[in-house]
Amino acid sequence: MTRAQELCLACPKMCSYACPVSDATAREALTPWGKVSLAALSGRSPDAAAALAFAGCTGCHRCAVSCAHDNDVPSILYAARAASVRAGVAPAAWTDLPARFAARGHGEREDLAAVHATLRTGHGEALLFAGCDALAQGGEEARDALFVAKELGAPLGLVPEGALCCGQKLVEGGHPELHAAHLGRVRPLLVKARKPVHLIFLQPGCARSVLESWGLPEGSRVEHITSYLAAALAALPERLRPPPLDESLVWHDPCELARGLRELTAPRALLAAAVKDFREPLRSGIDTSCCGAGGLLQRTLPEVAEKLAAERRAELGAAAATSAAAASAPVTLAAAASAPVTSSALVTSSPGCAAALGAAEVVSVLARWLSQGTRP
Ligand code: SF4
Ligand code: SF4
Repeated sequence: MTRAQELCLACPKMCSYACPVSDATAREALTPWGKVSLAALSGRSPDAAAALAFAGCTGCHRCAVSCAHDNDVPSILYAARAASVRAGVAPAAWTDLPARFAARGHGEREDLAAVHATLRTGHGEALLFAGCDALAQGGEEARDALFVAKELGAPLGLVPEGALCCGQKLVEGGHPELHAAHLGRVRPLLVKARKPVHLIFLQPGCARSVLESWGLPEGSRVEHITSYLAAALAALPERLRPPPLDESLVWHDPCELARGLRELTAPRALLAAAVKDFREPLRSGIDTSCCGAGGLLQRTLPEVAEKLAAERRAELGAAAATSAAAASAPVTLAAAASAPVTSSALVTSSPGCAAALGAAEVVSVLARWLSQGTRP
């Protein structure tokens, strides 16, 4: 048993309230304490029911914020998922991954190499690593990111076509050895002769995974797209910026951006420049709610993932309705919260969160702002 597991077993469950999965299912067994205790007790011989409990984690890090020990619960549960895979009791969503990675270099059904080939290669020193989620959605976010970076005077290059996925889903699906093998294939495509690299990711979870596990050469930089673009925007003289779009948006902090990378400022700086009004929901920043898009939850427990997304949409919708109400007749908060919200009023910066919430991407808003309707 690891030290982190011992700490959980002896803990008065300080983080129970924080877990979106146990909250949505109202199951004690799915609290962080319940899942970590089960992992400790089942050891190398979990059964199928235990494996499904280990599946109940989005990797949102919300429990860590309330944990005096800063326990990394997702890592404990990903190790427990690996034990489930070895014991032959893992759900198909995890056991499907090795064959897909072996055949295509990623875990998606779509032909990501074909989508990657449609992206126009740029010539910047920093390289855009679009990642499997953005490519599986057709690559529009990557096109917008390349366009915006160029317009802001900081053009991006593209990673080679073999770098389609960072491999984090192999970790989440209980295949740490295959993750190491995946890095062994993809890393040499990017790192030559130990020269530092500068990588830009659309999915914040991929940036964190690469930062923590790729062992890049000293001097390398790994950033989320909002961090990179905010720095480029800061260098752009005020007189060269178009006027903000006459729009009101509600911002959703992706868990991996806010709690994983601790990037709270960059997306807000970009939205403040691009639109006249953007709002924050009740839970935002470090306390942001999870939309259920992470940790392969949508593939293993889709009903739970959809419940999380619906609850987050309602929180964001309340902020949007309050925003609209403030501009019109007086209205009660309860009425504002129950008012319908259009998906175009929501904005985030993670392909997974955007799909789960039906939200726009920050780079798409920036692309419209910078082109002001002139872009084909
Ligand atoms: S993650 Fe921290 S707060 Fe939560 S049960 Fe474990 S030790 Fe307690
Ligand atoms: S990381 Fe998030 S989903 Fe996973 S146990 Fe912690 S709070 Fe729950």
